[in-house]
Amino acid sequence: MRILVTGGAGFIGSHLCERLLNEGNEVIALDNFFTGRRENIVHLLDNHQFELIRHDVTEPILLEVDQIYNLACPASPVHYQYNPVKTVKTSVMGAINMLGMAKRVRARIFQASTSEVYGDPLVHPQTEDYFGNVNCIGNRSCYDEGKRVAETLFMDYHRQNGVDTRIVRIFNTYGPKMLENDGRVVSNFIVQALRGEELTIYGTGNQTRSFCYIDDLIEGFIRLMNTEAEDIHLPVNIGNPGEFTMNELATEVGKAIGKDITVKNMPLPQDDPKQRKPNIERAKNLLGWSPTVPLAEGLRKTVAYFAERIGG
Ligand code: NAD
Ligand code: UDP
Repeated sequence: MRILVTGGAGFIGSHLCERLLNEGNEVIALDNFFTGRRENIVHLLDNHQFELIRHDVTEPILLEVDQIYNLACPASPVHYQYNPVKTVKTSVMGAINMLGMAKRVRARIFQASTSEVYGDPLVHPQTEDYFGNVNCIGNRSCYDEGKRVAETLFMDYHRQNGVDTRIVRIFNTYGPKMLENDGRVVSNFIVQALRGEELTIYGTGNQTRSFCYIDDLIEGFIRLMNTEAEDIHLPVNIGNPGEFTMNELATEVGKAIGKDITVKNMPLPQDDPKQRKPNIERAKNLLGWSPTVPLAEGLRKTVAYFAERIGG
């Protein structure tokens, strides 16, 4: 198959391109390099099945493909808040442009949505039928609401135009190829610990997140994209239900590095969700999927990657 991956030079996108090529597909990675980098995919450039296009998803593009994975969008709060208007445009215009392409060429299309559609959740763990608790005017809204509208567009293109859609709600995912200045908590803690710096814990550190290792996530993507079922167009949570406070995560990072760590508390960002944990029954039933990599093992692999890049 010929498969388009938007955001293909980013953290998740570059892993996905690699997996799709390994399975014998032709892959087109499309990226504007805002948070992606050529380095993530440079080893793929010699592969004649791989093509890289510098393009912004907010602009239309004509391509002939069989499948589209729409991942283009900065994912770290630091980066998506840098130009919030652009973040909304990327999610909304990007979805419209890619759905338009899918409709024209009858491609199956997959949207990388997010657990952020649940906002600061009042239901715990989060099931897909929970509508969420999102502030529509805060500084996380450009991301959360952009992704919510993208889901709306996916459902409406499916209902109105019969486009063959898939929506995954990704919970915090980590692993090799994250940027060292990505700003998300796992890469921050690992880079700080390797450099012998204090780990920056925002707020009390009692807020929780559930961390999924990248290989598990990609397996979930592939299964969702290639499964047929009556309700397959509805969103599916993919994440690791193991739930950790940021204080516990700091301790786990210390163990993975084998060093004593010190921490410093910093102000909690606005609207920072207090808790997050996926209910993954739908993914289990529909896709036979559940995560296999525990946090300690995933952290060891991620530490090895950053240690090679930055030393420590
Ligand atoms: P990332 O920032 O590493 O990758 C995003 C990629 O999209 C980058 O290569 C960036 O350059 C590209 N991009 C951004 N705006 C673009 C535009 N307008 N046109 C073309 N390319 C553009 O982030 P990631 O962690 O790899 O996330 C990938 C997708 O998964 C995003 O849609 C994100 O919202 C979603 N997601 C990720 C997580 C996570 O924990 N990593 C969680 C939930 C959702
Ligand atoms: N966080 C932290 N220190 C950091 C970066 C983030 O304590 O250096 C916290 C952040 O406040 C949030 C959690 O870690 O409660 C996860 O943040 P991240 O930006 O990784 O993801 P998101 O909040 O989007 O889930």
